[in-house]
Order: sequence, then structure tokens, then C-alpha cells
Amino acid sequence: MKNHSIKEVDAVVLGAGFAGLYMLYQLRSKGFSTVVYEAGDGVGGVWYWNRYPGARCDVESIYYNYTFSKELYEEWNWTSRFPEQEEILNYLNYVADRFELRKDIQFNIRVNAAHFDEERSKWLIYLNNGSQVYAKYFITGIGCLSAANIPNMKGLNQFKGKWYHTGHWPHKKVDFTGKRVGIIGTGSSGIQAIPVLAKEAKHLTVFQRTPQYTIPARNHFYDEEFIRSTKENFETLKQAMRNSVAGSPHQQNDRSAMEDSESKQQQVFEDAWAEGGFAFAMSYNDLLTNEQSNEKAADFIRSKIREIVKDPKVAERLSPKYMYGTKRQVLDTDYFETYNRDNVLLVDVKESPIDEITETGVKTADDQYELDILIFATGYDGMTGPLFKIDIKGRGGIALKDKWENGASVRTYLGLTTAGFPNLFMITGPESPSVLVNMPIAIEQHVEWIANCIEYLREHDIDLMDTNVQAEEEWSKHCREVANTTLYVKGDSWYTGANIAGKHRSFLIYLGGFDYYTKRCIEIAQNNFEGFTLQKLKTMS
Ligand code: NAP
Repeated sequence: MKNHSIKEVDAVVLGAGFAGLYMLYQLRSKGFSTVVYEAGDGVGGVWYWNRYPGARCDVESIYYNYTFSKELYEEWNWTSRFPEQEEILNYLNYVADRFELRKDIQFNIRVNAAHFDEERSKWLIYLNNGSQVYAKYFITGIGCLSAANIPNMKGLNQFKGKWYHTGHWPHKKVDFTGKRVGIIGTGSSGIQAIPVLAKEAKHLTVFQRTPQYTIPARNHFYDEEFIRSTKENFETLKQAMRNSVAGSPHQQNDRSAMEDSESKQQQVFEDAWAEGGFAFAMSYNDLLTNEQSNEKAADFIRSKIREIVKDPKVAERLSPKYMYGTKRQVLDTDYFETYNRDNVLLVDVKESPIDEITETGVKTADDQYELDILIFATGYDGMTGPLFKIDIKGRGGIALKDKWENGASVRTYLGLTTAGFPNLFMITGPESPSVLVNMPIAIEQHVEWIANCIEYLREHDIDLMDTNVQAEEEWSKHCREVANTTLYVKGDSWYTGANIAGKHRSFLIYLGGFDYYTKRCIEIAQNNFEGFTLQKLKTMS
């Protein structure tokens, strides 16, 4: 049914994080009327929601920013190698102000549904305040990790203390002084929070299901001279990142670990450990493709854990047994050292599973732990989770969730579009390089491609762009084939969906290299958007 009183815009964008802000900037500068809907009351996306203690980025700050504006790069000064959440949030607020983006962002609004209206050939977007809006283009910038995973644990509603998820942290500082704190989960979020919590709380109990390979971040403040030199090198740096395998100017060692003697391997790993950051992951070219090389890296990290952690039993519990890197490499500050503190207890919940949350704490198969505060650092329903939270329906009223068989059959073209959902674009969607690339760089590439594409459609009077089924079948197959040459697919992680009970296992990150991917996107656009059907409508209502 037509409803002419509903507001219409050229584009609706979801989310005001790195992706949504830049998408708005691009579309507005090309003259498209655009509105961004953001569930939070401020910009920042993941950096708005993740305010847990110790939250910081594990990509170096001088690379973890936009590169579309030289002026912006010159104006902003990062203070340290791995920026804290607050600093990144300040940066994104600065960007929003500098480019006057706020006037087209509506805060505290959630998009409940987006249905493709075939009669009008527009997307009808349903907001949680009861209103609706029509848009020619519907663009998601909701990230890959925004659907929090709060495990369905018996008794949580009877817990008398306070509980939080790291991804929905309160704005007001939580005071841990004198408190008995429990934390479930030892992924990137948990490992960042644990050392900080241990210092603040009276006692900290860590409930660990799977130990992690974590490497010292070796954070430090930048000096003025260093910042000045990065600004001078901006163009070189930008090109290096945009033409790289993973959106970073760092080059991976071009050798297999198997080419080096044991003593040389040790030296390479020691140097990488001392350098900190992702140097370890880049120390050889086959850590994620060759099981023998992988085991060497894993052995090295286990030896470090034994060196650092004084109690051998605790060290053993903290030592991962699965293949290195198949869960995301974590960076930490004094993580293993924290277990030498008297006020920290490690509980292995694989050995002794959590039975229930009681009024006063956590009860495992073997013990009861009294707590004032319980923290879930239990991660996210990644990749498809954020999209499935919205009722997205394409042609014929088919729901995205149904088309993708609830995750069992995800099909996309370039991770950007999916057949039957015309004029829908997913920034860093499933089957794009996304989280295995430095995110702001991956986002810029997607946003620029989408903006140029929409401009092309306008210039050629094309109303609808839909993906061909064959093109998406081929892309998805290619994506799976590349992933299957790596060890990633063998790991139980959020990458594979193994972290969510009942979720279909699939690896939805394109691993063919960001440089190759970017070239492919450009070629497709230059070949008049091969793989898409471009349609002109005779009459538009
Ligand atoms: P995560 O890596 O998925 O870790 C979740 C942790 O919770 C795991 O240890 C998991 O154990 C545990 N867990 C989940 N459900 C559980 C249950 N029912 N019982 C007991 N334990 C349970 O999540 P995350 O730490 O939030 O990190 C997610 C991703 O966000 C990271 O990989 C990274 O990409 C990004 N991130 C980045 C930064 C950064 O830049 N520094 C910081 C935070 C997050 P299992 O391993 O056994 O599943």
C-alpha cells in the first residue's frame, strides 16, 4: 500500500561508527540525501559501546584511522601506540564535528526492519520510534561484532549483584574498589580487562573456557618527532596500507618457519615477542597454513607462559592446546603476570563447568564463587549476527535470514551485496575481507566503492541494481576455497561461528588478500558492474 506521507531519502545508513560516518560523508559530498540511524546517543560504533576497563585497540593508532583526508590526518595527534577506547571515541567525535556530520544522524534510533517495497522499488525502513522512511539505497554499517553474546546461563536473573557485558558497558565508571569480581571469557575483551580489574578489585575470579595465545602489546607513548614523521609520510603510508594484504604497512616475513633452524626460529619469535603487537603473527608466512610452523609458534608462546606464571598448575591451565592463530591473536598488557597476584583466581570451566548463576555468585560443578559483580566478556554472534537482528526482507518478501538459511548458506557478491536484495549494500559484510584487515582501511575501500557505484547508477539513470545469482555463487565458492587452504577453518572461534551454541559453522571472511580484493572490486566496476543486473524503471511513483 502506498503511503505518500512517509519521508523519503536517497540513502539510509545504519550505524554511526567508522563505516556510517564515512558513508554519510561520501554520499553527502556527492549530493545524495542521506540519513544515518544510530542506536546509541553518540557516534563511535564499537568504540561507543565497548567502554570496559582496559579497552583499547590492538591496531596501532597511526594506522587505525581514516586516510581519506590528509588534513584530518595532520590535525589529529595520537598519544600512544595502541589507543584507548576513549581516545578513539574522541577521534570519531572530532571527525563528526569537523565534517558536520551530526545534522544527518538520528541518535537513539534502532532500525527494526527494512523491507524492499517492490511496487515503489524502494526500501521501507521501520524505526523503533514507530515511524518509517523510504530510501532508494539501504546501507548497513553495523560492524561484524555488534550482536553481543550473553550465554543463556541458568539463574542469571536471580543474581543480586551487578552484571555487565563488555560490549554494552555503562557510561558511568563502574567502581570495583573492595568488590569481589568475576569475569567469564578470555578473548580480546577479557584479556584486556583482567589486568585492570585485578588492580582495582578486592578479588578477581576468571572463568576460563579456552586459554588464549596472547602476545605483549608493548604499548608506549609516541613522541612528537615520531608523530611529525608519520604526518610527513602520509601519502606513502596511505598507499602502503591501501595496497597491502591486510590494510597495514607492515610486511610479513617472506619465509616459512620450516626454512629456519630451531635456533633461528627462536630468535625470530623472541624478536617478535619483544617488538609486541602483531609482529608475532607476521613473523613467518605460513603460521596459518602449515601445521608444523604453527606448532613452533604455539610452543614458543607456551614456553613464555611457563616462564612468566609462577604456579606451574596455573601456567598449564593458561596454555592453549589448539592451533595458534585460529582464534584471533590477542594482544595484552601484563595478562599472564596478573595470575601471579594473590587476589586473582583462575577457574577452568571446561574442567568444572558452570552449573548456574546463583543469587550470590557462580556455581560450578565443583565449587561456589561469591561475587559482587559479574562480567560477561563472552564475545559476539559475529558476521551474520548483526544483520540477522534486523528484519531485512528483499524481493518477494524473502527474509535475509531465510535466504541465508540462518547462516548455513550465506551467499554474497564481494561481501557487499546479495541477490534478491536490490540496492542493499553491506559495509564489511560477510565474505568481504573485513575483520582480517585493518578495519578503517577495509571500511574506506567499501564506502568509496559503494559511493562511486551509486553515483554511476545516478549518472546512467539506473534505478535498481541487483546481484546475479551466478556471480554470488562463484564469489561465495571462491571465498570458501581460499579459506579452506588455511588453518582458520579448523579452529573453534567466532570466526567460524563455533562460539555460539547451535550456530552453523562457516568461515565468512575473505582471505584472498585485501590488495587482490580491491583490484577485483575496481575491475567489476570498470566492466560496467559485471555480475549485477542494472535496471531502469520507466515510471517511478
Ligand atoms: P571472544 O574472542 O569471542 O571471546 C569470548 C570469550 O568468552 C572466549 O574466551 C569464550 O570461550 C568465552 N565464552 C563464550 N561463551 C562462554 C560460555 N558460555 N561459558 C564460558 N565462556 C564462554 O570475544 P571478545 O573477547 O569480545 O572479542 C571478540 C573480537 O572483538 C576479538 O576477536 C576482536 O576481533 C574484537 N576485539 C578487539 C579488541 C581490540 O582491538 N583490542 C578488543 C576487544 C575485542 P571459547 O574460546 O571457549 O569460546
